[in-house]
Amino acid sequence: MTFAQIDEATDLGFLSRQRGQGQLGHWIGGRSVAGVGDHLPVLCPWDGAELAEVPLGGAAEVEAAVAAAAAAFPAWRDRNVRERAQVMFRFRTLLAEEIDELARGISAENGKTFAEAKAELMKGMEVVEFATALPHLAPGRIAEVAAGIDCMVTREPLGVVASVTPFNFPAMVPLWTIPTALTTGNTMILKPSEQAPITALRIAKLLDRAGLPAGVFNVVHGGRAAVEAILEHPEVRAVSFVGSTPVARAVYRRGTAHDKRVLALGGAKNHLIVMPDADPDLTAKAVLEAATGCAGQRCMAASVLVAVEGSEPMLERLAERARALRVAVDMGAIISRAAADRIQGAIGRAASEGAQLVVDGRAPRLPAALGEGYWVGPTVLDGVSATSPVAREEIFGPVLSVVRVRSLDEALAIENGNDFGNAAAIFTESGAAAREVARRASAGMIGVNVGVPVPRDPFGFGGWNESKFGVGDITGEGSIGFWTRDKKVTMRWSLR
Ligand code: NAD
Repeated sequence: MTFAQIDEATDLGFLSRQRGQGQLGHWIGGRSVAGVGDHLPVLCPWDGAELAEVPLGGAAEVEAAVAAAAAAFPAWRDRNVRERAQVMFRFRTLLAEEIDELARGISAENGKTFAEAKAELMKGMEVVEFATALPHLAPGRIAEVAAGIDCMVTREPLGVVASVTPFNFPAMVPLWTIPTALTTGNTMILKPSEQAPITALRIAKLLDRAGLPAGVFNVVHGGRAAVEAILEHPEVRAVSFVGSTPVARAVYRRGTAHDKRVLALGGAKNHLIVMPDADPDLTAKAVLEAATGCAGQRCMAASVLVAVEGSEPMLERLAERARALRVAVDMGAIISRAAADRIQGAIGRAASEGAQLVVDGRAPRLPAALGEGYWVGPTVLDGVSATSPVAREEIFGPVLSVVRVRSLDEALAIENGNDFGNAAAIFTESGAAAREVARRASAGMIGVNVGVPVPRDPFGFGGWNESKFGVGDITGEGSIGFWTRDKKVTMRWSLR
């Protein structure tokens, strides 16, 4: 395939237009603030070209952003929730109008395909829609609790809150938190991933155009130092985090030790159990999409395929489909050279420990123009031992480990034995087998003939075990409770 063909298939001509953005600023108090000190290059995973430089903010930038957010809070809190929701209506319209340009930016900084970038924006827009319904979803309650005495409960915002997000969904994960946190009356600081920080600034500008007052939403760039400054700042009341499990655990502990409300979503190792009665074609298609979508860089990615004896025909179709997948057209790139090297190393170690490399993605065929990019093709390892690292640890790449078992009980024991607990799925025609997995899998999100079982609003997104630290979910009904505190007013207005 020539570069021109790839260009046509994935609309890559836009890549050159994303370069040369220079030094990004922080977004504080409704304007861009130049970074001082160290900057990191933001590299395009497709071809390794530099797109921009991101400043590494720290305590001073967090202090300035908290001051702006704290100053904006009283007036924003005092607006009626319907007025705040109106800003979200306008924001939703702007996201829809700008969706193609935003998707091109996401594709360039993250490496995913244009279609995947657009899909993540559409998922993020669903949360904006949820927030526009908050006047109806969270109106508070009132009841007579004793003769002549009424108790009224209202949901009040917390104040200045923060959201720390990973590289793999530069728009969707920020949009899991921004709409609900702001519409419930909080003001916010977003700390996006330093590996994919550009989209966050585009979101800030769209919120500004939607009429959000200055200081209600701020962006501080950086890495660990910026996050730790947020976690230790006394005026930040709540922190939402999404990223890898070791960092999620550390953020949860540090944030709660500083008296904050913290919800920290971590990594994953999702098991897909395939029964012999599952439709081989439909299952192979769904499993491959779940394993290779966003090049496997999703916390919902299928990572372990637990194949129950008799499901061999599906495994053959899966391998055929994996070989036919077009790298750089159907599947995008890996975020960095270091991540691609790490994934390739994990494949090599599994093979040397005895796993069978049915499809080897370590050297995908690519046109010369993409030679400097970061690539791993679809990879299928068969005969993997349930105790090996590729079957237990998060790889975060397009690598599917097939573990063969004799029974559903054995499959469930493997799923239950893993430390993570984000998602699990079963492919079957049997309602009884599906029910068994829904009841016994140790994961927060379960799929039945669905490889990526993402709950849609109003249902909340969130895993179990080492995939989540804290209470509640990051989206949906549970998120309203995270971003608010109840006020209980007890009133006697009786004339008797
Ligand atoms: P990461 O943990 O490296 O980084 C996440 C965020 O934390 C970034 O903003 C980063 O700057 C910051 N950070 C990094 N090291 C830190 C430290 N020591 N202290 C404080 N902050 C730090 O994650 P990533 O590589 O950007 O994203 C991939 C990970 O995110 C995967 O493990 C994936 O499973 C997970 N993820 C989980 C979900 C979920 O919903 N559970 C969703 C998306 C991604």
